[in-house]
Amino acid sequence: MRDISSIGFIGLGHMGYHMVNNLAKAGKQVYVYDVMPEAMARFQGVPNVEAVSAASELADKVKTVVLMLPNSPHVETALFGEGGVLSEKVPEDYFVIDLSSISPDVTRDIAKKLAEKNVKFVEGPVSGGVSGAENGALTIMCGGKKEYVDEIMEVFEILGKKIVYCGESGSGQAVKVVNQLMSAINLISMSEAFVLGTKFGVDPNIMRDVIVAGSGRCWALEDRMPEILKGNFQPGFAIDLHTKDVKLAVDMAKNMNLPLYATNLVCELFKTAQVKGYGKLDNCAIIKLYEELGGVEVRG
Ligand code: NAD
Repeated sequence: MRDISSIGFIGLGHMGYHMVNNLAKAGKQVYVYDVMPEAMARFQGVPNVEAVSAASELADKVKTVVLMLPNSPHVETALFGEGGVLSEKVPEDYFVIDLSSISPDVTRDIAKKLAEKNVKFVEGPVSGGVSGAENGALTIMCGGKKEYVDEIMEVFEILGKKIVYCGESGSGQAVKVVNQLMSAINLISMSEAFVLGTKFGVDPNIMRDVIVAGSGRCWALEDRMPEILKGNFQPGFAIDLHTKDVKLAVDMAKNMNLPLYATNLVCELFKTAQVKGYGKLDNCAIIKLYEELGGVEVRG
């Protein structure tokens, strides 16, 4: 097991904020960095947490750094870009853990680039949302060398409940993309069907009651429909991030020349929601597209 009594953390957004708190509560000294100063300011006076003024400082302060960033370019910039962790020097026995949900292909490239610098690297994209991050109850999809995953298992055990080794570099990200694609398709199928039933005149509460016990049940119906019925579209997991994940699926398929019919349609629907200005809303706001077409609202 690796000594993680001192650890770096980059990306203090919806998820990273809670993860840092959990590492600090577990007694780790956490050095944090985010491009947004206000994200770092939230840790003022929090025991065991200290902000640094550039990611490159983490090359001196710690031997292990965790990333929780929006997408592939952010991860590449944070590691290799100007002021990035490894932009000035590459310390010996360094370890990078990327918990962001990014491209499986880019992840493989990063793993190769870091291996050439003798830096250990694993990915561990997560699911379980902001509440999972807050409660240390995330599901973590690990990819990379198995012995590296075992070496930093303590980090995963602090942040998550279900930790699954998925295979070599990129495999964890691929599993995450598959999960995100299924949940996006789920959301669209539920939105389309519920607007159909509601426009016909059926109470959506009754439809939900029936279908959670029927073959149409799914995560979207169990977890998101109650929020739609309340008219609560505050994120949660924003349409912008879910669109990013569906685009990752489209790119993966393009690289393999694999036709994916529903995926491409769902991607266009999510992009439409962004164009309409719903990008910062919760992913369940995708139903608004159908509500506008149908001239009805699915509410309790
Ligand atoms: P977020 O946008 O809330 O936070 C990202 C943070 O990264 C921001 O504070 C931003 O300022 C910072 N950042 C961006 N580029 C940076 C850089 N180069 N250097 C330093 N900081 C930088 O995102 P989030 O909701 O915390 O999600 C993070 C990742 O986790 C995403 O890949 C997302 O898809 C995934 N994820 C999110 C959820 C969720 O419910 N929000 C659930 C599972 C997985």
